[in-house]
Formats: sequence, structure tokens, C-alpha cells
Amino acid sequence: MGVKILLFLWVPLTLWANRNIYPENIKVRIYSAYHFRIFEMRIIDGTYQITDGQHKPIRNIGKDDRCRIEIKNNSLSLNINDRDYDDFKQLHFKAIDNNSAFRVIHAINAPSRNYDDNLFISIFRNGIRLINTVDIDKYVAGVVQAEGGIMNNNEFFKMQAVASRTYVLRNFQRHMRYGFNVCDTEHCQVFHGTASKSDIVQMTEKTKTFVIIDSSLNFITAPFHANCGGHTVNSEDVWSVPASYMKGVLDTFCFGGRHAFWEFKISREKFLNYLSENFNFPVNDSLLVEKALSFNQDDGRKIFFVDLTDIHLKKIRSDLNLKSTFFSIFAYDDMLIFRGRGFGHGVGICQEGAMQMINHGFTYDEVIKYYFRDVYVVSYKDLMKLLP
Ligand SMILES: [Zn+2]
Ligand SMILES: [Zn+2]
Repeated sequence: MGVKILLFLWVPLTLWANRNIYPENIKVRIYSAYHFRIFEMRIIDGTYQITDGQHKPIRNIGKDDRCRIEIKNNSLSLNINDRDYDDFKQLHFKAIDNNSAFRVIHAINAPSRNYDDNLFISIFRNGIRLINTVDIDKYVAGVVQAEGGIMNNNEFFKMQAVASRTYVLRNFQRHMRYGFNVCDTEHCQVFHGTASKSDIVQMTEKTKTFVIIDSSLNFITAPFHANCGGHTVNSEDVWSVPASYMKGVLDTFCFGGRHAFWEFKISREKFLNYLSENFNFPVNDSLLVEKALSFNQDDGRKIFFVDLTDIHLKKIRSDLNLKSTFFSIFAYDDMLIFRGRGFGHGVGICQEGAMQMINHGFTYDEVIKYYFRDVYVVSYKDLMKLLP
């Protein structure tokens, strides 16, 4: 009987533990949107040990040392302070000190940026691939700055830190088959390296280990967007995956936000051609055309464009590069004006609404609980104590 009880506890606990890992470091593919075959880096703090693919030491470098790395004859060549080291498949820059940091410069078409901790360099699709293995809180602070740094409010930074930390923990295996956890673009979360704002670093530290969990004690997905336009969206309406905590909520806080309203103009002919070419929309059916050209979401958000069709608004948004799917159409002779609300996918936290809530005196965890239903903001350490 004792074994039975043990098994009963052990199985769900193992499942829980597999789903809810809390690692100290994360592997981020940096410059993932860029393709280059040569770049330079400068050590801005600490000491690094450089090793090859077999972890054989090449040499150590320190502050102000400069390296140039390029692809030559399908392998990596390294130049340090004008001395050449050739023919590597991989290069590891392993931080020896806690505060080691480097700056990537002169990568073609890419901005220069500072990063902390380790760097792993390899060749991928004929270009250089950089993977930054970095302390999870340094990563979270970097994401807070890239995704919400403009907000300049400590309570907001705490909220963003907890949301971004939870998001990355939940999506930790996303790129694992390629040897890293997350990329540095909007596909995962935007990360441009070390956070330079000390407030952001402090607020990330203050909320260290704090995460958002659902009623089954699992990390939630915790997505966010700039402005929901007055109502957030059910997760299943955007990503086809329902989640009990991600249901649309009314949000009047974001009406004064920078991205509350937008307009888009297109000719009637061009729009009808688009509908016909992409969705076989019957442009000769005058009744349906009239319905399409007076499409209205004033009474609430919709998922599909015009009844009786299965044209997903998400597809229209991405094809026409619109700021959101929350728009109504107004026809003026041959011109159509799309009057829209909000910016982003609309699921989860509305950043401009959150900022306004904080201005009204709500705390960061109250904001999180407003946008996600039946969730808890807890420290991972306390969560471990709760478990049998
Ligand atoms: Zn990604
Ligand atoms: Zn909103």
C-alpha cells in the first residue's frame, strides 16, 4: 500500500517537475534575424577562456581584448589582437568571472550590442550562429528593457519581469532541437542583450524567482502585447489552443494609450482583388460584397471576417500588415478606410492598459490577475515548499 501511495505521488510530481523546470541559465540564440559571416567582439568586463569544439583551450582573453571571427573555407577563423588562429568548427567563449561581458560589433547590417556570460559560436546555413548562455535574471532584465523599457515605471518593470520570466520558463524547450532554448525575436521574446537601465535590473532582482502559475500549479504561457484596443482576446481565437486563464477581458484602461487607435487605407478594387485571389471570395455577389465592405466590430471583437466565410482576421492582419485584427471598415467612394483599435495579438497582458492600471494605484500582481483569470503570483521557492 505504501508503494501505491508513493507511486501515486511520484507520477504526477515527475510530470509536474518536467513541465516546470527552473534553470539558472538559458541558451539564447542572439542575432537570430541576421545573417553574417564575419564579426568582431570586444571583452568589456572579466576574463574569458576560449576553447574549440572539443573543449581544448586555445587561450584566455580579458578586458579590451579584441577578436575578429570569420568563416573561411567552411570553418571558423579567429583573430585576437592581430594574431591568427585558424580552422575551428566551433568556438566557446567561457566566462571565468561572474561579471564577464562582451560587445558584438561590426556584424554586417546588425547593430552592436552588449551581452553577459558565455558565447558559443558555430556555422549554420553558411553564416555565423551565436548562442549566448546567460544567467536567467540577466536575460529577463534584457527582455524587460527590449519589450517594455519605454514605460519607465518600477511597478510596470516588476510586472513585465514576472510575465517574461514565466513566459520563458513555460517555453523553455521551444528551440531545443536546434541546441538553444529561445531565439531573440518576437517569435519568443525580444532580447537585445544586457539591460542598461538600473531600475529594470533592480526590479528584476526584486521579483527574482516570482512566476505566474495556474490552478494546477503549472507555469502559464503569459503572453503580452502593446494595446488590446479595449478587449483582450481568448487564446484559442489566436493560437487555436484554449487556456482557462487566457479568456478575453474588457479593458478600458488602454483607451488613452499610444496605440489605442489606427487607420489604414486601401482602394476598394485592391481589397476585393485580395479577397478574391486569396480566399475565392465571390466578388460578384453584391450582397456579400456590401457586407464585406461594411464589416464592423463596434459591438465586440470577432475572429472571422464576414459571416458565412472562414476568412480568419489573423490572416488579413498579417497579409495587409495591420496593427491588430480589431478594425471596422468604412467605404468612401473607391477608397476603404480601416479604423482599428490596439496593437498586437491581443492575448494576455495589454501593456498600455497595465501601465494605466499602475498609474491608478494597482500593484503589479493585481494587474497580472486582472489580465489572467484564476492565477497566482508566487515565488518558485515557496511553490516547492507547497509540494508534498
Ligand atoms: Zn523563437
Ligand atoms: Zn487594453
